[in-house]
Amino acid sequence: MQLTGKTALVTGGSRGIGRAIVQTLAGEGARVAFVYQSNAQAAQDLVAELAREGLTATAHQADVRSKAAADALVARLCEEWGKLDILVNNAGVIRDTLLATMSEDQWSEVIATNLTSVFNFCQAVTRPMMSARYGRIVNMSSVAAEFGNKGQVNYAASKGGIDGLTRCLATELASRGVTVNAVAPGFIETDMTAAVRSAAEAEIKKRIPVRRLGKPEDIARAVAFLASDAASYITGQVLRVDGGLTLGGF
Ligand code: NAP
Repeated sequence: MQLTGKTALVTGGSRGIGRAIVQTLAGEGARVAFVYQSNAQAAQDLVAELAREGLTATAHQADVRSKAAADALVARLCEEWGKLDILVNNAGVIRDTLLATMSEDQWSEVIATNLTSVFNFCQAVTRPMMSARYGRIVNMSSVAAEFGNKGQVNYAASKGGIDGLTRCLATELASRGVTVNAVAPGFIETDMTAAVRSAAEAEIKKRIPVRRLGKPEDIARAVAFLASDAASYITGQVLRVDGGLTLGGF
């Protein structure tokens, strides 16, 4: 297993892509802690499911928008584990609407949850990872950062911010053995895309060269690779995992 002996923290691990990341990292031998916001039942179900497979993960309720919560959780895990090797900033929300009708709350909630959270957790892990001379940070971006989409001004701004943060932080931490990368999913089958899938799944599939929507596991495998020692020479990159959606062919 490629992550035996590693420790990992995943935000937004109770559902969707984050859940698959927790399962994959644990399956690869890592000790995993994950953050959820309000869905305690889903978090407990995941912990129990992993336990049945002989794998361990712990669930932690926290709001990723809170800097204090990020600092406290990272400090606690570093104390318990003696180190934190892997951080996956995955928690995210959408509040889609045209700019003309977007409220300040819809803007602020998306920026705080998707982007400020990445600042919060990256800053919390930076000193421990620098001291350890080892770390893997993987941030969840989106193809929406690069390609215009009506109704996603707030979301695209948050993901574009993540891409810039990823590249800058990669240059700051590279000499300390810490890599920082992002994964940019296309259309993945999760709660987040349920509404758009029910409205236009067939149309969406036609635009994806591999002719299927992505599964959370498709993203989790890419994250596990970037979190592994096999990816030690990759940093500051945004890896699109989208079935070719953004290739722009005819
Ligand atoms: P999802 O199914 O809606 O799950 C979101 C997760 O984030 C849940 O675990 C949720 O916790 C957690 N979360 C949300 N706000 C939080 C907060 N303030 N504090 C702590 N946790 C919070 O979403 P998903 O589709 O798996 O998306 C995961 C990531 O991938 C997001 O960053 C999203 O932008 C990105 N992404 C998704 C797609 C896609 O097609 N699905 C495409 C591109 C990028 P609770 O369960 O407690 O609510």
